[in-house]
Formats: sequence, C-alpha cells, structure tokens
Amino acid sequence: MTFSCLGVGIGTARAIALGPAFLLTRGGPIEVPPRRIESTEVEDEIQRLLRAIARAQQELQAVRRQIPATASASIAQFIDTHLLMLQDVTLTETTAHLIRNQLCAAEWALQVHRDNLVRVFEEMEDAYLRSRKQDVEHVVNQIQKALLGPESTKDLRRADLRGRILVAQDLLPADVIVLKQRGIAAFVTEFGGPMSHTAILARGLDLPAIVGVHHITRYLRDGETLVVDCLNGVVLAEATPAILGYYRERIRAYEARRAALKKILHRPSVSLDGVGIQLLANIEIPDDIATARGNGAAGVGLYRTEFLYMNRDSLPDEEEQLDAYRQVVEGMGAIPVTIRTLDLGVDKQAEGHPLPCPAPCNPALGLRAIRLCLREPELFRPQLRAILRASALGPVRLMIPMLSSLQELASVLRLIEETKQALQSEGLAFDPDIPVGGMIEVPAAALAAGSFARRLDFLSIGTNDLIQYTLAIDRVDEAVTYLYDPLHPAILRLIRMVIEAGQRQGIPVGMCGEMAGDPRFTRLLLGMGLREFSMQPRALLEVKAVIRESNVAQLAQDVEELLAGLDGFDAESLAQRVDALNPKRLH
Ligand code: PEP
Ligand code: MG
Repeated sequence: MTFSCLGVGIGTARAIALGPAFLLTRGGPIEVPPRRIESTEVEDEIQRLLRAIARAQQELQAVRRQIPATASASIAQFIDTHLLMLQDVTLTETTAHLIRNQLCAAEWALQVHRDNLVRVFEEMEDAYLRSRKQDVEHVVNQIQKALLGPESTKDLRRADLRGRILVAQDLLPADVIVLKQRGIAAFVTEFGGPMSHTAILARGLDLPAIVGVHHITRYLRDGETLVVDCLNGVVLAEATPAILGYYRERIRAYEARRAALKKILHRPSVSLDGVGIQLLANIEIPDDIATARGNGAAGVGLYRTEFLYMNRDSLPDEEEQLDAYRQVVEGMGAIPVTIRTLDLGVDKQAEGHPLPCPAPCNPALGLRAIRLCLREPELFRPQLRAILRASALGPVRLMIPMLSSLQELASVLRLIEETKQALQSEGLAFDPDIPVGGMIEVPAAALAAGSFARRLDFLSIGTNDLIQYTLAIDRVDEAVTYLYDPLHPAILRLIRMVIEAGQRQGIPVGMCGEMAGDPRFTRLLLGMGLREFSMQPRALLEVKAVIRESNVAQLAQDVEELLAGLDGFDAESLAQRVDALNPKRLH
C-alpha cells in the first residue's frame, strides 16, 4: 500500500471525507488591477518589491526545512527550482525597471513581467518546457501574496466547488458558511485551532475539516484525490484503491452509527436513575433549526447572532433581526430559544462595522462581545429591541457574552430596562419577564460566579473562551493548541465553582462550549452537577446515548472523589480516570 501523508493537523470532528483538492492559495495566477504611482514613490515601491521577494524566499526555505523525511525527493527539487527563480536577478531588475519606467505598483509590474515570460514558455515546442510556465506563475504568485496579504474566498464565487476538498492557508468563519452553501465536501487549512470559530462552525455544519496542517498548500496539486481523516487529523494523497476502500468503509460505519443513534431520537434524555438532563442546540443561522429539531434538541441553548452580520456590507436593522429571530422562535415551536447578544470581534468580524481596534492590540482581550456592544449602543440597541420583540413570539432567553465585571453587567441590565420602557411606550409587545442570563467564559466571571448568579436568571459556561483565557492560549493559534486542555485542574475547578454558584442561587447553569458536546466529558460533567448541555446539533444523540446509560448519583460520588484528589494526579492519570467513567466504546 502506498500513499503520501501530506500533513498532520487537528481534526475538527469525528468524520472522514474523500474528494478532489481545490487549492485556494495556488488556484491560479493572481490578477491585480493596474495601479499608478508618483515618481517620488518609485524607490519605496522597489523596496516593497525586494521585501516581498525576501519574504517569499524565507517562506519557501521554511517549507523546505519541514519536508518530512518520508516525502518524495521531487518535492525538495520542486522547491529548490522555485528558490533559484526567486534569486534570479532578472526577476528583480526587470520588475524594478517596469516600476521605474511605467510608474506602476510592484504587483502590477510583476504581473506584466510574468505575462511576458509565460508567453515565451507557451511558444516553446517542447511540451515539458511549455509546462514549466507553471513554475513562473507559482513563483510570481508567491511574491504577489507577500505583496497583497491573505486572499479571501470572495475570489471563489465563480469556481465549481461541489464535492471538492478546499485547501487554503486560512479561512474566516464567514467563509465557511459560503463554502458550505457552495457544496464543498471538506476543508483543510494551514492555520487555525480546533476551537476557533471557523472550526466550530465547520462542526456545526457537519463539514469535515482539519486545521493547522502547516504548509499543505505547497505540497498539493489541484484536483488530486485527498482523504481527510478528521479523527486522526491526517490528510492523505495518492492513496491506493485499498486505502480508499478502507476509508469508504469507515464512512459507512460512521453513517451506520448515526443511523443507530436515530433510534433514541424520541426517547427522553434521562439517566438510569431518573435524572432529567436538558439537551439543547447551538445554532448559528436560522437554517440550523432543521438540524436542531432533527436531532431532538429540547431548545436552543446558544444562538450565535453575529453570523447575521457577516458576508454583507451593511448592518442588519431591527426588523431584519426580528425576522431572523422569528424564524428561529417559531421554527423551534414552544421550546426555549436562548439568543445571545452580539459577540463580534477577534475572528468574527462584520464588514459593515469595522472594529475600532488599532493593528497592534490583542483583539481577544479588547473590544469584543458585550464590551463592543456597550461601547457602540447604536450597534447594540437595535439588537436588544429585536430580541425583546422576539420574546413576544415564544419562550426566548437573552444571554450576554463575555461578561467580566459587575459594572458591565449593571450597564447591560440598565440598557435592557431602558429598551423595555421604550418598547412599552411605543406599544410594541415583549415578554416583561424575559430571562436574562450571562455567559461565564472569562476566569474573573467564573471566580465571581456567585455575584453574577445573584443578578442573573441563568448562567451558561462558555468553555471555549474560558479555556482560552484561563490557560492563556489563543484559540485561533494552532501553535498553542497542544495546551488546550478541558481537563486542566484549573478548568475543572472553575467549572465546578460556576455550577455550585448556580446551585446556591437556585438558578440553572448550562454549558454551551464545545466541551458540552464531547461525549467523552458527558459523565464527568454529569458527576459535577451539570444538568443543561448545549452543543452543535449533530452531537446531541451521542451525548443522549451516554446520559441514558449513566447513573448520575454514582457519578456524583466518583467525580467528587476524583476532584478531591486532583492535585495528586498528573495530566495522564487524570485523563485515564475521566476515561474510566465512560462507556467502553468511547475509550
Ligand atoms: C464559548 O466561548 O465557549 C462559546 C460557546 O462562545 P463562542 O465559541 O461563540 O465564543
Ligand atoms: Mg465565547
């Protein structure tokens, strides 16, 4: 059996996909419009070109250093050829000459030079030499990318993506929605962590994806068949029929398991000893309600409303938001919908509302979520009005993301009260008793959970951010993904504190971070006292299956013991003990 393992990254789901590659970063020559420059700018422009060539060289050298020992020697030769072309003085001199004489920007000059060279290659009689024009295009693309910065999926609108595996350097969450609608089978990126919103969205959309596969775009040919094995985080190319057969069998087994789980769709989410557990769905767009209902969600525990603000040039107004919320509330029937107020910032941006964040600041610690909303009431007020008005249509809960201080909470609660009064004076209907809850996803809020619990109607633990902020690991940075650990003692203690704070105050505490949808943690969380789990809809039945075969009273004792001994365990033995709580099939 032969195949190439193109890279190892982090799978975002327990799924597998097969299909032809669609290479975003080397999908074809980059075309730029002509841009004129002033004669006073010529020297700066040439320096810009030289810096871009140097950056392209550094990137290629870094790739060369990381070629796996098992990779074919032709990959190194391929990169060496490109490195030599980048060092060629005629490339620099001819392009600089064009910048100087035509007074044009570096990327345009480079494009003219490329087109001239490509023409020469195209006129060659020898088929092999003719095909080398691709090397010219590739090298120029490298420099163009260094000059232009990252590409966007907007370039993809015309391409046929159905059934293909998109391979890109990076993707934004907003891109994933477009790509799913365009019918891609899976995607692989060089950057990004498994808890990034891009990865979370992929899971929610049932799109197999592997993130953090360094330099994969350099090793691939457009159109070659790939295997994306999310379970093991590997991308394979040149797989033999036997290997493809093996993976097709795995896909069948995965689908058979999903079909078997459908049998418990209408069975209650109750443990062996009779404890009822609320299983809720996380949704991103109104279309997700079909999947939520199809997987038996008892409500929506997290509606990430920010996706309404993406892939568009203007902000949605109150009526448009109300329409979206109406679809969700009515679509879910009489079961509760938790609408989270906007969590824009970091990797979730709205084109219609550029964030007021200067380049050097750290957006994860900056004006994100409720902080941004309080700073920009004209952004926030229409949403509050729309959520409150939606509460007249069915059971709606309002949830505030990323709370960290009590003053902040007081400001939001004041704003909600003012909005209610305004609606009342306008004669618009809303639920005066709409439950208002907060996400506990900042360590400060977890440590002060009692204070938040006293002022709110419910809490929901956002483990994606709680882990990011507690362990100081950027959730979109694959370089620190290895430190992402839901079982870190600090995380377990914080979760426990929040659950206990809610119990003391007599308010519900849920969890809507990815940890809630991972069946390997279901029993641990049940034992810790969690009674409300919100997750991407396709995880609901697997988690329900675990709940239905668990004894919660027994788990409470086991987990109590486990937590009492927390300081004595190293990471491995703690993981083993948590695993020992689980049914065998999850080991
Ligand atoms: C979380 O942080 O756990 C969460 C659910 O919110 P998001 O992933 O949207 O930041
Ligand atoms: Mg969060």
